[in-house]
Amino acid sequence: MTSPLVKKIKNDNLNSKALNMKRIYIKDLKSHIGSEVTIAGWVDIRRDHGKLIFIDLRDASGKVQMVALPNHKEGHALANTVRPEWVIQVTGNVNKRPEKLVNKGEPNGEIEIEILSIVVLNEAETPPIDVRGDGKEIGEESRLKYRYLDLRRPRMQKNVRNRHKVIKLVRDIMDKDGFIEIETPLLTKSTPEGSRDYVVPSRLEKGKFYALPQSPQQYKQLLMSAGMEKYFQFARCMRDEDTRGDRQPEFTQMDLEMSFVTEEDIMAINEKTLIEVVKTIYPEKKIQQIPFPRITYKEAMSKYGNDKPDIRTDKNDPNLLAFCWVVDFPFFEKEDSGKWTFTHNPFSGAKPEYLKNLMEMKDIGSIIAAQYDIVLNGYEIGGGSIRNHNAEALVKVFEIMGYERERIEKNFGHMLRAFKTGTPPHGGIAWGLDRFMMLLENEPNIREVIPFAKTGEGKDLMMESPSDISKEQLIELGIKITQ
Ligand code: ASP
Repeated sequence: MTSPLVKKIKNDNLNSKALNMKRIYIKDLKSHIGSEVTIAGWVDIRRDHGKLIFIDLRDASGKVQMVALPNHKEGHALANTVRPEWVIQVTGNVNKRPEKLVNKGEPNGEIEIEILSIVVLNEAETPPIDVRGDGKEIGEESRLKYRYLDLRRPRMQKNVRNRHKVIKLVRDIMDKDGFIEIETPLLTKSTPEGSRDYVVPSRLEKGKFYALPQSPQQYKQLLMSAGMEKYFQFARCMRDEDTRGDRQPEFTQMDLEMSFVTEEDIMAINEKTLIEVVKTIYPEKKIQQIPFPRITYKEAMSKYGNDKPDIRTDKNDPNLLAFCWVVDFPFFEKEDSGKWTFTHNPFSGAKPEYLKNLMEMKDIGSIIAAQYDIVLNGYEIGGGSIRNHNAEALVKVFEIMGYERERIEKNFGHMLRAFKTGTPPHGGIAWGLDRFMMLLENEPNIREVIPFAKTGEGKDLMMESPSDISKEQLIELGIKITQ
């Protein structure tokens, strides 16, 4: 039952300019002891002790305990009505807690807000999922469906905020090193890069399709043709593959390409950046070995049975980061059909000593690519190569894979033409940012570090996507659905 007093206060609130723009952040309250302040946020929990009503209020910066005393009649009456996740603005006194009531473990443990008045900015229904714990006991489907709620929990707030910090720091490091961030198109062309493409129908050219980029690979190489020399980008990549714990239909790469470089240069700049990220943002973590050890593909396979070895000396230590480089990958491998295919990226170059074999298409299985993967605790968190910058060498790669000249021209004519206009030697790398963040945050899968993640089946449960489109849209696109 809403009391007449509460009704009156709510009415007054509606009629006044309720939102006080002089609101301060909860993390700053300690410097306002003894004064009256206005704060705003979400009701984390309310504990009713009859005369005393305690409310924990949460904003993006922190949490604080507030108390409503019966002598502030209006504030007390309203405090009685608020429920978890209501959005309220509170004006109150910042009081120092008596020594014996100080909560040492809490950032605001030595203060308490004495509520003078409350403005309810928005009410909330009983939340379908609890947002206060770490959420690990809640089914993932519910968490993804109500992601806006799920993201309110401290663990997810921390993951999203640290992700921002990592991106920001890497941008700053790259900028300082003379790299520039360049956006490349999302509507691009279907080309073989290892996975199935997501395609987008063209309305103006019915029956034709764009492809969403699996990576900015070709554009970044064309930027080297364009004389940019040092490119990077936090790039969204889309691959239509069966999802796993460390895969998602769309993911983020820290993508980089440089001109006039060797493998050593690319590895050095990445190693330096990775170390700086860990030391600055995760000082509690220990990097097992610097410089990062290098392991050849052959050695990794014989010693660890895979090409992303987990070389941690103590697998129980959540703060141990064991980076290593894996190098000297075979350029080609045989498919079941007996045809040769590239192992990583058709644009990789051969190591200089194998270039002759590539050009003469000789001893193909023995050709080693100028490729390097960066591995962390048993996960491949990045990979790249020094590329072929010579048109004929690129043609050879496709010929080895059995492509006809005509198909090479059709798919990669733009690359071949660019390479003939004076393209410098170049190479690069891309990190899987989500996997890196997952490991830094000790999370079991990348969905915990992707704000709006999809399910293992590639569904967005919150937006209910993929979804049907209207008959009109289908007609406009010239598309007929067959069952
Ligand atoms: N584009 C490559 C990938 O997505 C990375 C690279 O070679 O730079 O794996």
